[in-house]
Amino acid sequence: PSALREVLIEVPNVHWDDIGGLEEVKQELREAVEWPLKYPKAFKKLGITPPKGVLLYGPPGTGKTLLAKAVATESEANFIAVRGPEVLSKWVGESEKRIREIFRKARQAAPAIIFIDEIDAIAPARGTSEGEKVTDRIINQLLTEMDGLVENSGVVVIAATNRPDILDPALLRPGRFDRLILVPAPDEEARFEIFKVHTRSMPLADDVDLRELARRTEGYTGADIAAVCREAALNALRRVVKSVPKEKLEEESEEFLNKLVVTRKDFE
Ligand code: ATP
Repeated sequence: PSALREVLIEVPNVHWDDIGGLEEVKQELREAVEWPLKYPKAFKKLGITPPKGVLLYGPPGTGKTLLAKAVATESEANFIAVRGPEVLSKWVGESEKRIREIFRKARQAAPAIIFIDEIDAIAPARGTSEGEKVTDRIINQLLTEMDGLVENSGVVVIAATNRPDILDPALLRPGRFDRLILVPAPDEEARFEIFKVHTRSMPLADDVDLRELARRTEGYTGADIAAVCREAALNALRRVVKSVPKEKLEEESEEFLNKLVVTRKDFE
């Protein structure tokens, strides 16, 4: 029996408006990935070659995975996600086979997006890492697969890293990951947009001021803001659970549910 794990094809359900801020990044991904997948004939007619690979780089928790999923959803493409360390640690010896399998599946499922998160784990510059032979072989296989993607194959590779500086330069050559897109930490306006996304389906009291929250969360990433919002909702639940008689709680009465409103205090 093969040790190879099944390559899973997902159909994500993340839309552009689930991502706060990052307007320029979204537009760039629309043009570089979504349009070529949706309108291949137009690109052919115009004589322009879309990128085979896009590298998203920037600090952790800023939405790289979310962006890759949104591109797939909005392009109506299948999504194959793989994490660098998972290829490396579990598939020593089988790693190249796994890469081949991923690309084979993607071609079959085209239009498809292959998302390689934490690509730095498999792609440090050749000859520099410990266990260099493994990473060398994986990189070579990845390069071979990307070079072999014919134009308009309907397969695009999106990779993500916090450490673009340690990537093997061969990966960044034309025809490979030749589009580098910075996914920055959010500024105040972007934080406001992210707060909007994550409180969109919450019952918010009028005293909650998302602008103020955005102002007060300098240095927070999107992931941090998602956690703040989740915690605020839980605070509201804790508060209400304490104030409602047990029977009403158990039957999740109207009274209980009506009291569940997230207030300014819950964000403290
Ligand atoms: P890592 O580098 O740690 O893998 P990442 O950049 O891929 O992080 P994501 O996994 O996309 O970050 O983000 C983690 C979570 O943080 C998301 O599921 C989402 O809830 C929230 N998040 C991050 N950025 C944003 C954003 N711009 N808008 C809305 N939510 C965001």
